[in-house]
Amino acid sequence: MPEHPDLVIRPQTGPERVAHHHAVSRYFPTGGHRDTTRAIRVGRVPIGGGAPIPVQTMTKTDTQDVPATIEQIAKVATAGADLVRLAVPDNAAAAALPAIKAASPIPLIADIHFNYLLALRALEAGVDGLRLNPGNVGGSERVETVAREARARGVPIRIGVNAGSLERDLLEEHGGPTPEAMVESALRHVRILEDSGFFDIKVSLKASNVPMTVAAYRLMAAKTRYPLHLGITEAGTARTGSVKSAVGLGILLAEGIGDTIRVSLATDPAEEVVVGIQILRALALRAPGVNVIACPSCGRTEIDVEKVATEVEKRIGALPYQVSVAVMGCAVNGPGEAAEAELGFAAGGRGGLLYRDGKVVGRVQAGPDEIADVLAREVEAWAAEKGARTPDPAAGAPAAAERP
Ligand code: SF4
Repeated sequence: MPEHPDLVIRPQTGPERVAHHHAVSRYFPTGGHRDTTRAIRVGRVPIGGGAPIPVQTMTKTDTQDVPATIEQIAKVATAGADLVRLAVPDNAAAAALPAIKAASPIPLIADIHFNYLLALRALEAGVDGLRLNPGNVGGSERVETVAREARARGVPIRIGVNAGSLERDLLEEHGGPTPEAMVESALRHVRILEDSGFFDIKVSLKASNVPMTVAAYRLMAAKTRYPLHLGITEAGTARTGSVKSAVGLGILLAEGIGDTIRVSLATDPAEEVVVGIQILRALALRAPGVNVIACPSCGRTEIDVEKVATEVEKRIGALPYQVSVAVMGCAVNGPGEAAEAELGFAAGGRGGLLYRDGKVVGRVQAGPDEIADVLAREVEAWAAEKGARTPDPAAGAPAAAERP
């Protein structure tokens, strides 16, 4: 059995503390708990120990429907997801995993409730991570079997505590689903895995209430060095959920808490990924990437700016380049802005002018989709010529390389 790692937090007083507070870098400015967490890996993606923060999502297809699930995974990967989770509720879903795993461009996490045999099948299928609460699988022998098989494959386990499904005794003791009750529940599950000699653990403590979620993660961060998976559960529709997630995850991330994130929205999972990436970018926790600028439109507008800009963002938003692309609606003010960005389009006549590094490089005569296609091609050509590429979270290098 592996040795128990030292995951207990002790107050730091000497030079170690000073070094920690100076651990700033361009993209990872806050330091904090995430610099001190145990480093684990989900497939090729490092999590914890100060690694770049991966964005994950969950498929919304029926896992049994292999083609639909593979298609959705491809879509979220294109949107920039680093990891993807799938529900594995039964044997039919477990049977679909090998084919899905073979086709997935990003590591897969199997979400399992209660049934340890499904966890074993998922591990056999080659999944890269499990989400499983060991207190719910029916005894220590079963936990030990899963822990042994996961450890043999280098597969970590996420413990996912949800304010809506806490143990009855904790609800009674704490008078309801409080942050303290959530943390106590998580620590119970953690201890069960630790007792099986398993330490490649990450933990989530989700509630739909933002202040409660924030309080629970803060408390957990003060108690352990396991990496934390941040999320607000049942966050809501695209707009409400994005705001809740930006506020809740934003507070925690800015305090240095959180090693991986998932934004939950009642919409397309690719949208969850885009919002997650935007939250990280807004906090400078991820390199800026592609910045699509669009004019607000006015009576002079000669194209559907919103449509073109949305199409452009869809096609190039997740590309790993640090580049500004402007979509402007007319030939009066548009050219100035378009010329400021690395790439730009200013409408005029039937179509418009294409700019690159401030100079007109061509005229485009086409509809919104084609304009978006042209700009996407131009971005690729521009990036190839400049060798422009932003740090890749899966590589794990930028945080360490940039840290003094
Ligand atoms: Fe109006 Fe042209 Fe300015 Fe867009 S760029 S807001 S269309 S004046």
